[in-house]
Amino acid sequence: MSTGKNSVSVVGLGPMGQAMAAAYLDAGYEVTVWNRSAGKDAGLVERGARRAATAAEAVAASGVTVVSLIDVDALYAALGEAELDGRTLVNLSSDTPEKARAAAGWAGARGASYLSGGVNVNPGGVGKPESSIFISGPREVYEQHRAALDVLGGTDFRGEEPGLALLYYQLNMTMFWTAFTGFYQAVAIARANGLTAADILPYAGYTGDSLRGFYEWAGPVIDAEDYDGSAERLAMCAASVEHVLHTAAASGVDTGILGAHADLFRRGMDAGFGAESSTRLVGILSDAA
Ligand code: NDP
Repeated sequence: MSTGKNSVSVVGLGPMGQAMAAAYLDAGYEVTVWNRSAGKDAGLVERGARRAATAAEAVAASGVTVVSLIDVDALYAALGEAELDGRTLVNLSSDTPEKARAAAGWAGARGASYLSGGVNVNPGGVGKPESSIFISGPREVYEQHRAALDVLGGTDFRGEEPGLALLYYQLNMTMFWTAFTGFYQAVAIARANGLTAADILPYAGYTGDSLRGFYEWAGPVIDAEDYDGSAERLAMCAASVEHVLHTAAASGVDTGILGAHADLFRRGMDAGFGAESSTRLVGILSDAA
């Protein structure tokens, strides 16, 4: 029986789905939850969430269902048998833009309204005003469920094409994973030289913060295709990357990641771009396909 409160279902209770369900409980929603494995809903049920026996039952319990699963294939596995006609699914599971488009078609063919999303914060950031979630899909569906989505934090509507939210998400992840594996690489070199992660943390913070300035400098240069090398030359950057690679090799750590970086810079040099800005490398990456 409805209590007249806003209601939402959350399908998938990994750390992210649990944080989302908790945010809805905090906001006073009537929350129905489902997870494939038992036990992950215990804290939520204790706080008043209703446990659905099946994912189909969860979807039936609320007009809008937030999905937080490992990927789109898990969506099909969880909701393949569910009645979706007239329901709204907001799928905040990460996947590729292609998979997001396919899932939107899959849901539409079953009569559901469907939004795709990519979550830019960790579970601890869910519900905070500074959190950011990319959303794409029909604008009217987004507007209709805006209040429920805003419970999770700031949403950023990227457009109606269903793959867009995941495209923007994967662009962020491209930057995140390459930078973060760079941190792992630096820690490995530090440890090989008797330092700890703690020793380099202040400098890691400085370098991470400085990236914003580099992005803001390089973006307009690349869009203008003006690769003037008067401030920094690819040849200088290529030499720097070789120094990094050799420092890693001399430290006896894995050089696979850094070797790939050095290869890119060498290809730029071989193409004759040494006197131009290192931003010229975007062309080499773009032309690889
Ligand atoms: P987890 O890997 O911890 O949880 C994945 C969830 O998917 C679990 O509920 C799991 O169920 C379920 N699942 C996996 N396969 C199936 C299947 N075949 N059928 C049914 N259920 C399935 O992920 P998180 O909670 O950390 O993340 C959820 C989503 O949020 C992911 O797409 C992730 O990329 C995204 N995200 C996560 C962030 C984070 O920091 N955690 C940050 C930003 C985005 P079961 O418990 O039974 O295994």
